[in-house]
Amino acid sequence: MRHLRFRILNEAYDIAVVGSGFGGSLLAMIAHRLGRSVILIEKNKHPRFAIGESSTPLSNILLESLACRYNLPGIAPLSKWGSWQRTYPDVACGLKRGFTFYHHILGAPYLRDPDHQRQLLVAASPHDRIADTHWYRAEVDHLIVKEAQKLGVPYLDEVTLESVSESENEIRLQGHRNNEDFSVRARFAVDATGPRGFLHHALALQESPLPDFPVTQALFSHFTGVARFAEQISDHDLELPPYPVDDAAVHHVFAGGWIWVLKFNNGITSAGVAATNDLTSRLRLSEGTAAWQRLLDLIPTLKKQFTNSQATRPFTYLSRVSFRSSAVAGKRWALLPSAAGFIDPLLSTGFPLTLLGVSRLGEIIERDWNKPEFAERLQSYASQTDNELLAAADLIAALYATMDRFPVFASLSMLYFAAASFSESARRLGKVDLARSFLLHNDPHLGAAIRRCYQPAKQTSTQQEMTELADEVSRAIEPINIAGLNNPQRRNWYPVDANDLLNSAAKLGSTKHEMSQLLDKCGFWK
Ligand SMILES: Cc1cc2nc3c(=O)[nH]c(=O)nc-3n(C[C@H](O)[C@H](O)[C@H](O)COP(=O)(O)OP(=O)(O)OC[C@H]3O[C@@H](n4cnc5c(N)ncnc54)[C@H](O)[C@@H]3O)c2cc1C
Repeated sequence: MRHLRFRILNEAYDIAVVGSGFGGSLLAMIAHRLGRSVILIEKNKHPRFAIGESSTPLSNILLESLACRYNLPGIAPLSKWGSWQRTYPDVACGLKRGFTFYHHILGAPYLRDPDHQRQLLVAASPHDRIADTHWYRAEVDHLIVKEAQKLGVPYLDEVTLESVSESENEIRLQGHRNNEDFSVRARFAVDATGPRGFLHHALALQESPLPDFPVTQALFSHFTGVARFAEQISDHDLELPPYPVDDAAVHHVFAGGWIWVLKFNNGITSAGVAATNDLTSRLRLSEGTAAWQRLLDLIPTLKKQFTNSQATRPFTYLSRVSFRSSAVAGKRWALLPSAAGFIDPLLSTGFPLTLLGVSRLGEIIERDWNKPEFAERLQSYASQTDNELLAAADLIAALYATMDRFPVFASLSMLYFAAASFSESARRLGKVDLARSFLLHNDPHLGAAIRRCYQPAKQTSTQQEMTELADEVSRAIEPINIAGLNNPQRRNWYPVDANDLLNSAAKLGSTKHEMSQLLDKCGFWK
């Protein structure tokens, strides 16, 4: 063992990946598949807790494409609920059929909502088999790091890295492990350690502001004994919702913040709150359990849902949630998007941004390793990563500003759902060029049309202004609206309807026949 460790540490690697969350482990596997010598280094020991649990249709097609392109058969089943259950029944996850939103006025009782004015249900899949998932990260990340080891990636855990030094030809990472000095040399390092992570400290990188984004805090834990929200309300007595509302990423939105509730299939529920400083200081969020109880006291239906709940771990309190690094890449290093920045858990933007970054770094390693273009490609990766973070920040800032006015919030969120569903379908059709950038922010017409909705939304309050905003949103998303979104007749309930997709084939440069073949291939029909 000692001999093996000696050999591992005395080798000079092509790439050292620091951090073995799913992002770091996937990148290490891809680099290994591309013939690079790689080492994967972790501070903790798996299985370990990690937050960031809810996948999306775009994350899943990105994951599936990476698994296919780099021949990672152990990863592919994680891209759908059905294949996950068949292949890894012992690895916990949650069923995510869509995005569920309920609006609350803090301190007021929940009122029946037969017209769905204070709820929004957007289905992401037509049935369970091809549904998205919530990842129970302790088990999923453990599985993925084991897959990396099976492939032959050397992996060292419980490493405390302290410093980094760069020379003309290599980067050296230093620290200690098991009370012994630790040092590893590589030509390139990828930091996959999350926000304010290893290189942020070791290279003393600055934090950049996120213009117009409110300062937010968060508090979260895992619980047992959480009931289902649908049982606390009687809204769905007469009409069946497009999917069971709890089998989803459930968002409870109120002025200044929101609560997430994600159910796993092992009896555990992830729940937490993210909110602006105004609200968090009123709630005294840093007090943990007591603050969580104070918040539940203000939302009677949630209080009922959590009556028999028990936190399975101490609450985690984040005094600052959002983060933007001033630098994303240097000559011999790059941050994954998840280390370069984070905005908010709202709309689950973390997974797709991370996977887009993994995919782009994979392409750079594949095409430009050892070539003069490497540095230039890396810089374009860095600016793309930063621009996508800013695009997510603009959207989520506008959503925070409208959390007190649910119809405006719901209208704005259509911008996200239209861009996300269009991007997913473009990728599934093999037309990646139609949707290369996250939220299509790079598209000169669409990006601008989407951004034009943000500012007016923040000031919208009268019925007339809300109607005008909804019209502006409809115009902005029309070229990419393939899911019948923003249709008043749907009364905020959006099932996945094959006709919407078939009738929108031309928007994706396809025919109805091609779209129909895609639906067959994806297992759309039960
Ligand atoms: C409260 C919250 C909720 C979120 N919810 C969602 C969501 O629902 N959906 C979504 O898409 N995204 C969400 N995110 C974002 C999501 O967490 C990230 O996108 C995701 O975790 C990125 O995965 P990763 O593997 O790149 O990094 P991480 O999950 O951050 O993993 C980093 C790894 O690096 C290790 N590490 C840390 N420091 C060091 C070091 N110095 N040396 C060696 N190893 C180190 C850690 O132990 C860990 O294993 C959320 C984020 C927060 C803060």
